[in-house]
Amino acid sequence: MPPPADTYPWPMPDAAVDLSVVIPIYNEEAVLPLLVERLRPVAESWGVTHEVLCVDDGSTDATPVLLQRLRREWPQVRVVRLRANAGHQAAISAGLARARGRWVVTIDADLQDPPEVIGEMLAVARSQDVDVVYGVRHDRSSDTRFKRWTARAFYRSIRALSDVDAHVDAGDFRLMSRATVDAVNALPEHDRVLRLVVPALGFPSASVGYARAPRAAGASKYPLGKMIRLSVDGVTGFSIAPLRFATWLGLLGGLAAIGVLVFAVVEMLLGNTLPGWTSTVVIVAGVGAVQLLALGILGEYVGRTYAALQARPTYFVAHDSLETEPDGSRGS
Ligand code: UDP
Ligand code: MG
Repeated sequence: MPPPADTYPWPMPDAAVDLSVVIPIYNEEAVLPLLVERLRPVAESWGVTHEVLCVDDGSTDATPVLLQRLRREWPQVRVVRLRANAGHQAAISAGLARARGRWVVTIDADLQDPPEVIGEMLAVARSQDVDVVYGVRHDRSSDTRFKRWTARAFYRSIRALSDVDAHVDAGDFRLMSRATVDAVNALPEHDRVLRLVVPALGFPSASVGYARAPRAAGASKYPLGKMIRLSVDGVTGFSIAPLRFATWLGLLGGLAAIGVLVFAVVEMLLGNTLPGWTSTVVIVAGVGAVQLLALGILGEYVGRTYAALQARPTYFVAHDSLETEPDGSRGS
């Protein structure tokens, strides 16, 4: 439990810094200079100690070089490089696991989430005494119609299928208290969808509205395939409804098959036997379809169980600039 708002001391005594800004970065050479230009003056206006934790998600462009240069120019920057591209959610997880802040904010690198809102989030966390402040996109006109439609479908189905009360327009731009981050880090779950995991933890929360800006430069690193992956992880991670659906479908299919069987036998006894080629094909195809669908859904859960049993990390850290220079010296 956080102490009452009026006794909330800033800076907090036992955290290394007041605020960690976790930024997942994958091949963002085009965006990085723009990000720094926007973020740095904002960060300096907060008046709290902070670290800017850049998680380089196995970038293959000039991003690593730019980050190393940035680290020399901006003392608050810390670079955590993952060995291979682990994906947006895993990159954020890596950042959360290593962040040292009393508060941690996660923000995309492409300036779709305005850094100016972070100060507002801090103010809300302080004044409303909450553990989580969600950034809620009240204006998504910069996103494509397809993106908005799929996002809406995603949150609708999550809300319908599970009891997670995820905000319909909240993405991964959010401020979390140390207690929340510790709780997230303690979860053994694989392929977690943080925007669902965090509300499911149930910490007191508030939200701040903002307009989602267009990507500042470069191209989206979220192709359709990754979006579908995120939705499937979201649904299977929070609901067994598809599993139940498969069971019901199997049951209905089975009943229908019995009906057809009885019908066939009766027809045969009545001497009406026709060479039922069409019906045979229909039945075989129908039953096959139901079974395949059911197997597919089962496979999703089996896959998750398998991954969890292996307990294999979802990312591997190649290096953390904080650890290579434990005395805080900047190196060269
Ligand atoms: N990202 C990442 N790893 C990936 C894909 C994306 O770290 O495999 C980062 C990316 O650099 C950006 C954020 O995640 O900071 C969101 O990605 P993007 O803006 O491409 O997604 P979109 O806004 O198009 O959904
Ligand atoms: Mg983006």
